[in-house]
Amino acid sequence: MLHYPAVIIQPEDVHACVVVVGPGLVAVQDDEIALSNRALELDALARELLGHLLEVVDEGILAVGDVGVVLSVGLAGMKVECLAGLALVEHEVIEGRDRLDISLERRLCGHAPEGSCGRMQLGGACRESSCRGARLILMRLDLTSDLVALLQAITDVESVSGNERQLADMVEEALQGYGHLEIIRDGDCVIARTHFGRDQRVVIAGHLDTVPVANNLPSHLEEAPEGLHVVGRGTCDMKGGVAVQLQLAAELTDANRDVTWVFYDHEEVGADLNGLGRIAENSPELLEADFAVLMEPTDATIEGGCQGTCRILITVPGKAAHSARSWLGRNAIHGLSDVLNRINDYDAREVDVEGLTYREGLNAIRVFGGVAGNVIPPSASVEINYRFAPDKSPDDALAELRRVFHGYSFELTDMSPAARPGLDREIAKEFVESVGATPKPKYGWTDVARFSALGIPAVNYGPADPSLAHTDNEYCPADQLDTCANGLRRWLTTKKEA
Ligand SMILES: [Zn+2]
Repeated sequence: MLHYPAVIIQPEDVHACVVVVGPGLVAVQDDEIALSNRALELDALARELLGHLLEVVDEGILAVGDVGVVLSVGLAGMKVECLAGLALVEHEVIEGRDRLDISLERRLCGHAPEGSCGRMQLGGACRESSCRGARLILMRLDLTSDLVALLQAITDVESVSGNERQLADMVEEALQGYGHLEIIRDGDCVIARTHFGRDQRVVIAGHLDTVPVANNLPSHLEEAPEGLHVVGRGTCDMKGGVAVQLQLAAELTDANRDVTWVFYDHEEVGADLNGLGRIAENSPELLEADFAVLMEPTDATIEGGCQGTCRILITVPGKAAHSARSWLGRNAIHGLSDVLNRINDYDAREVDVEGLTYREGLNAIRVFGGVAGNVIPPSASVEINYRFAPDKSPDDALAELRRVFHGYSFELTDMSPAARPGLDREIAKEFVESVGATPKPKYGWTDVARFSALGIPAVNYGPADPSLAHTDNEYCPADQLDTCANGLRRWLTTKKEA
């Protein structure tokens, strides 16, 4: 029986040492892990372990069902505080008295005993050379490592929305080591602020969470014709940007502007959970700045502002009747045709705002209606999405919709304001010049609008192709990591004329 907090696997418990090609992991359901002979699926095991690090000390979650293999984890002599930084880096099924054994390594762990070297093996997996075993390491982010290594390190800590804690802990711990940063923690958001006493302050923000993993962790490197790619969930959206932020936060101990580095949670889910929104609501003073850069993927170019988006629902009434006597009713679905024709005829504007051309759009996105195969529909609705340029306020957008759908009443189902690019400001011009990219408009809605709502001009600027975001094969080109780091470094270190 294993006991919390320290779990002891005696080396003598592990003697047989046959490497099994299978089994691999097929499913993790409730408290059971079922094994099959697909070795590739061991990656899923790695993710499962990462998701339950603090629970690994309880063998319950790792009891394996009908195959009769029990996963035991060697944690001998390890303090429980160390578990937060555990990462599984290597794993292999070892058949030994029906056990899958995992040994642990911890690296640069603050809790390592006196005199231990950087790498320290713990636990009781077999050390025989024929058996590599599986290894967990306690990982601490090294912010002085190169960007590819840093990106891989943060990518391999799974942080699907709602599960950002471990990565946030690691980010916080790593930044704590730098005296020029004041660290503030709010839930799973980490804020690091400099106090150089400069006359300008900028916010550089990125989210720590990703969309769900799709068999694309841990990360790996691919040599493509155009250069090295870091491949894996989150590399594009948007841990590449986070890696750049982390490196510069540590490196820039004497920037020409004060910087507020924001690493936030819950960007990929409902707006009500958004970590940046929470800070803006509860502690807007923490986001006070003259300019903000959101490091979402833009292919290392500048995307200014963002379009607003709103949705409305128009319901057309009709009158039910048997379809055999349709003249006694009034068909609500037919009644939608006038609304749809107005959308079809709508001339969506192209609008120039501060030198960027935004293209608006008015579209029906859903229709609802109909009762049965022999009933004239008594009611039908169409939901309409309007994407509007940043020269319009939400009120302007609604006024436009009232004009287009004159004669109809509608229900507002969603409204997110647009954000002006703010490129007419001096600080933004310096940014554009330092980064050396031609600004483009941002068509989608992003968190830059939250800055805009606080009166802070904001742009998107980050490595990786935004069209790869959320795809199973998302990746970040290594050279774009350098491009973005160099651009920001120039902007934040070039001496300003007095
Ligand atoms: Zn993102």
